[in-house]
Amino acid sequence: MINDKMYALGSNRSVIRDLFEYGNERAKLVGRENIYDFSLGNPSVPAPKEVNEAIADIIASLPSVAVHGYTSAQGSEGTRRAIAEDLNARFGTAFTPAELYISCGAAASLVSTLRALIVGAETEIIGIAPFFPEYRCFVEANGGRFVLVPADEKAFQIDFGALEGAITANTAAVIINSPNNPSGTIYSEETIKKLAGLLEKKSAEYGRAIYLISDEPYRELVYDGESVPFPPLYYKNTIVCYSYSKSLSLPGERIGYVLVPAAADESSRLYAAIAGAARACGYVCAPSLLQRVIERCAGIRPDLTEYASNRDLLYSALTEIGYRCVYPKGAFYMFIEAPDGDGNRFSEHAKKYDLLLVPGESFGCRRFLRISYCVSGEMIEKSISAFRKAFEEYRF
Ligand code: PLP
Repeated sequence: MINDKMYALGSNRSVIRDLFEYGNERAKLVGRENIYDFSLGNPSVPAPKEVNEAIADIIASLPSVAVHGYTSAQGSEGTRRAIAEDLNARFGTAFTPAELYISCGAAASLVSTLRALIVGAETEIIGIAPFFPEYRCFVEANGGRFVLVPADEKAFQIDFGALEGAITANTAAVIINSPNNPSGTIYSEETIKKLAGLLEKKSAEYGRAIYLISDEPYRELVYDGESVPFPPLYYKNTIVCYSYSKSLSLPGERIGYVLVPAAADESSRLYAAIAGAARACGYVCAPSLLQRVIERCAGIRPDLTEYASNRDLLYSALTEIGYRCVYPKGAFYMFIEAPDGDGNRFSEHAKKYDLLLVPGESFGCRRFLRISYCVSGEMIEKSISAFRKAFEEYRF
């Protein structure tokens, strides 16, 4: 006997992966240099030198059994302390290592948190479009119901009328992601304050906490000196799911954390349930070598020069051609509107120019397409004429 739900998840490739594989096939025919692949969110900026130096030094200076051995399930005390100190220095908080659970990246942070909160088929978890498509899989595979709030397509902030209408007595949590994949927008302080107010009101109405899950792998990827409001400062029942995949360019190394603030309702039970969920998923502990790296590098920030210049180049070229797009302030994505409002159709059309753009449907926004600009500046320069032709030769 084989579980049909898991079979379906394993055998259906995501749209993003499909496009990527299509690009690989085309590359064999026309040459890699002629494919403009904007499909994947794999950082193109190398990990900061401090990270590689730390890896080399840890391996050279510590006994192998210590470097590669198990750590405690919640992560080593030193790593959790380094992260708490970094957060406290930046946000004026007073977190302690006991509020941190080290994870195998943001996906593992989210799965552990969701599993800890889903109590049965009636549990509802709200996502806000545009959203990271894996949320649906993480919620449904863990037995809950994923409820989608449609996007505010003008600014990609939050449609509060729609969000309020979606909250019910079964809502366990709302997931947000800012800076956002796929739109590159940052939720303003006004948005976060309004969200906190709404969740407080609804929590009081239902007599229990509705948690806010803040999925923040792009927290440090912001341009033009923009700042990203830190949700725990506005709403005490915030659980932060963080990852170093993007900020330190370490997506294959699987390292991140869950922050469960002591101020949150039932924080000890919640922390223990997250630990239990991680155990049930068989995560055992986050990679030991990487925990040591983070202990040394928690305060290292990425060099954003390349992403910022890619963003500027693309945004000005595409808007000059006539594409419409909300100005992206963070992450490394842009979300352009299809000229006829059909992202799927335009994505197919763009393939004729070997331009690979991800249709917005799986992010909950059919009218749009995602561009991942974590690619070389050279490829972006070369791609502009393809973007122009795709736009000018599109018939609808
Ligand atoms: N959340 C968002 C919004 C993402 O974009 C990603 C990865 O692209 C993840 C979570 C998963 O990140 P990780 O690689 O750390 O599991």
